[in-house]
Order: sequence, then structure tokens, then C-alpha cells
Amino acid sequence: MAYDFDLFVIGAGSGGVRAARFAAGFGAKVAVAESRYLGGTCVNVGCVPKKLLVYGAHVADELEQAAGFGWTLEEGHFDWGTLIANKNREIERLNDIYRNLLVNSGVTLLQGHAYITGAHEVEVEGQRYSAEHILIATGGWPQVPDIPGKELAITSNEAFYLKELPRRVLVVGGGYIAVEFAGIFQGLGADTTLLYRGDLFLRGFDGSVRTHLKEELQKSGLDLQFNADIQRIDQQDDGSLKATLKDGRELIADCVFYATGRRPMLDNLGLENTGVELDARGFIRVDEQYQTTEPSIIAIGDVIGRVQLTPVALAEGMAVARRLFKPEQYRAVDYQNIPTAVFSQPPIGTVGLTEEQALEAGHKVQIFESRFRAMKLTLTDIQEKTLMKLVVDAETDKVLGCHMVGPDAGEIIQGLGVALKAGATKQQFDETIGVHPTAAEEFVTMRTATR
Ligand code: FAD
Ligand code: NDP
Repeated sequence: MAYDFDLFVIGAGSGGVRAARFAAGFGAKVAVAESRYLGGTCVNVGCVPKKLLVYGAHVADELEQAAGFGWTLEEGHFDWGTLIANKNREIERLNDIYRNLLVNSGVTLLQGHAYITGAHEVEVEGQRYSAEHILIATGGWPQVPDIPGKELAITSNEAFYLKELPRRVLVVGGGYIAVEFAGIFQGLGADTTLLYRGDLFLRGFDGSVRTHLKEELQKSGLDLQFNADIQRIDQQDDGSLKATLKDGRELIADCVFYATGRRPMLDNLGLENTGVELDARGFIRVDEQYQTTEPSIIAIGDVIGRVQLTPVALAEGMAVARRLFKPEQYRAVDYQNIPTAVFSQPPIGTVGLTEEQALEAGHKVQIFESRFRAMKLTLTDIQEKTLMKLVVDAETDKVLGCHMVGPDAGEIIQGLGVALKAGATKQQFDETIGVHPTAAEEFVTMRTATR
């Protein structure tokens, strides 16, 4: 049977655009439908605008440090409106780049919501299209617990477009987004409290990293409240918000920001017209080749709920394009040793196993850990400490994990990701000449095991 397209991609986000462009490059006839914004979450309400706001917040630190280097600055003034307007301009530029990337690679771009009407059929704006393969790359959406007053709270989606910087912010959650936005609000001058329901935030990260970041954030003046969760939110007569905690305490703020995880975006997608099944958590169930339970339908990225990171969605998109249209180049995505950064202030960089994971996997581990004040701070009064940690298999000498909290952690950890992928041993780390004077050289000069 002749189809309108070889591949119909739903969602022009990180994964969808990558799959579409490469499939078209391999000679396939490809369409992409996008209902909201080109480039998806990452470009519009995720990685990119977030990082721009993190840079903005970090300026406050630079200004604080300036005096130690002899600079006298007049009192600074921050204007949220300027930062948001400049950020928006940059995002619009990126939207155009994504449009050109798709159109120039021969992809048919359809603007509108895609609704799947059958195993090989999709409807966009009243028009039906048939396709041999349908790729669902619809991403995720913030999830706010169902508490009274939840409509008064905002999520990352709205935070990027706030008209003003709130004076007092409550950030709820203990994952990537909560920690990053707490740093943004705090750095830009808002009175910020982070509320996390458990004992210590960033569950799943290395224990030393979690504790170290907690201490550094406390030093910076962020109000960290663990074992704290909101029961209800009420608007007060003066417009402010009152958050009543489960333990009865009441906190007043101008903005309550929820970052309590993301659900798959399946709204009005038409999965009921297909044999696509969901997993126990509600994400689309796929096999190791991203095949859903409907043979003609594939799914990648945040909607499958594996690893919700842009470079992972890109790798999955690439793998699908190759498997379908260039099978001789197909390589499965390697989910081991994915480097990642949390752009908190200071940031975290991490790759490989945490100490806890290594022990749980049965490794006999040697831990190398170093805490130091970065050279840049020695002329200032700032007491921030950097943490670097290596988790090493005591029997094979293989480095199992590298973890860092400190300036440029994300930049530094990328290179260590290559080393871990190559299976580097601690001896090879030791034999690597350091770059001096840098913080990064500490990763190749830690000689004595801490435990
Ligand atoms: P998305 O990028 O979400 O794209 C899905 C697209 O599908 C969207 O454009 C959506 O409008 C469209 N769509 C949905 N339904 C339909 C439909 N029915 N019809 C048509 N179109 C539809 N990752 C990192 O690696 N580094 C970071 O620093 C980072 N920061 C983040 C910060 C925030 C605040 C958030 C929310 C996420 C961040 N992420 C980060 C995660 C990253 O953004 C996601 O993992 C990535 O965007 C997932 O890509 P995707 O292709 O699966 O989906
Ligand atoms: P995460 O899953 O990372 O964190 C969710 C947090 O919310 C956890 O601390 C969780 O607690 C808490 N939580 C969940 N449900 C509730 C509830 N009902 N009440 C109170 N707290 C709750 O989600 P995020 O929203 O932070 O981010 C989504 C994903 O996006 C990330 O996991 C990451 O993959 C990606 N991302 C990546 C970034 C990067 O690469 N720098 C930046 C931002 C996002 P608990 O641990 O107890 O379950």
C-alpha cells in the first residue's frame, strides 16, 4: 500500500526533530506535526531558557567577587523584564533555526495538533495523512499534585514568562528543576525557600553530592526545608499566597513554584485508536528498539519516561532514523554512563555510578574525595567549597563514577564521560597530566583513598 509518508513524526522537540531530519537525509519521505513550538521543551521552556536564566543569576556572584579583584562597582540593579525579553528574542531565533533545519532537509512541516486515527493514520487540522511508520515524540508536561489551591501555583512553563520577579518564592520539589529554579530565583534576588518532602533532595544522586550541595545552598542564604510539603494554598486579601504545610506551619509568598516531576504528554493523542499500551507509570511502553505494542508506531524521548534528557532524546531519535532507513548504520543507544549536570548554584556534574549504586551492585569500592576552595575565590570573602569524588572498583581499578559540585561542573564532567565510556582505570586517571592551575586537575591528582 502506498502511504503519504514513510515516517510521520508527532512533536518537533529534541527527539522528533532529530529523527525527522536524519530520516529525510536517508531518503525517507517525512512529515512532522508540531502543535506548540519548534524545538520542543528544551528550546522553549527547558534547557536553553533555563541556562540563560542561570547565567543571569550567576552575575550576582561575579559582582560579589569583583571587589576582591580590585573592582569597585556602583550598586547594581537587576531588571527581570530585560532578561526575559532578551531570552525571548533568542528563543525566537532558535525557533527559526529549527524551522529552517526541518524545511531544508526536505521534511514536510505541519503546524497543528496531531491526533492518531489509526495504526497508519494521523489527523492534523482536519486533514488526514497516512504513513508507514508513526513516531510519537510528544515529550512531557509538568505534574502538580492535586491539592486545594493548586491552580494558584506555577510550574516551569509559566516561570519563563513571569511579568515580574516575585519578591518571595516557595519552590516545591527536590529534583533537577526545583534545585535549578531555586538557584535562579535566589540568585536574581528573590527571597527563596525550597521545600522538599523527604530528608534530603536529589534522590538518586551520590550521597556526598547531595550533602555538599545542601551545605553550599544553606551558606548562600537559600532557605532549605526538608520533610516539608504543602497541604493547601490560599490567596490572601493582599494578593499574596499562604501555603499551609502538612505539619501545620504557614508560609507566605508571592509565588509558589511546583517542580514535582513531569508526566508524558498524551493529551488528545488518539492512542485509543491504536494498540499502543502504557507502562505502569503511564508512559508509552516500548521495547529496546522503541517499538510500541502497535507494530507501526514507535515512541522516543520523555514520553517513554526512560531518561528525560535532551541528548538522550537526540540519541533515541537518531537510532530510530537509522534502524528504519539506514539499518547498516544502526547502533543501540548506550544508557550506561550518561553524563549529566544540574545547573544549580554551584552546579553538579556527574557520570557513572554513585557510591551507593556501586555498593549495591556488589563492587568493592575505593572512594577518592576532595573538597577545596576554588582558586578564584581566594581573593574574595566567599567560602564556597568545591567537591570532587571518584568511585573506583577496588578489584579492577576501573573508575565507576565521577561526581562534582562546583563551578563549571557540567563542562568538566563531559570529558570524564568519554573516559568512563572508554573504561578508564584510576591508574590512567593518575597518569593523565593535569591542566594547571584549574579545578579540573583535581580529578587526576587525587592519590589517597578517603575510604
Ligand atoms: P519535547 O522536547 O518535549 O518535544 C515534544 C514536542 O511535541 C513539543 O514541542 C510539543 O508541543 C509537541 N507535541 C506534543 N503533543 C503533540 C501533538 N499531539 N501534536 C503535535 N505536537 C505535539 N534536559 C537536558 O538534557 N539538559 C537540561 O539542562 C534540561 N533542562 C530542562 C529544564 C526544564 C525546565 C525542563 C522542563 C526540562 C529540561 N530538560 C533538560 C529535559 C529536556 O527538555 C527533555 O528531556 C527533552 O526536551 C525531551 O525531548 P522530547 O523530544 O522527548 O520532547
Ligand atoms: P524530577 O523527577 O527530577 O524530580 C521531582 C521531584 O519532585 C522529586 O524530588 C520528587 O520527590 C518530588 N515530588 C514528586 N511528586 C511529589 C509530590 N506529589 N509532592 C511533593 N514532591 C513531589 O522532576 P523535575 O520536575 O525536577 O524534572 C523532570 C526531569 O527533567 C528531570 O528528572 C530531568 O530528567 C529533566 N531535567 C533535566 C535537567 C538537566 O539536565 N539539567 C534540568 C531540568 C530537568 P522524591 O524524590 O521524593 O520522589
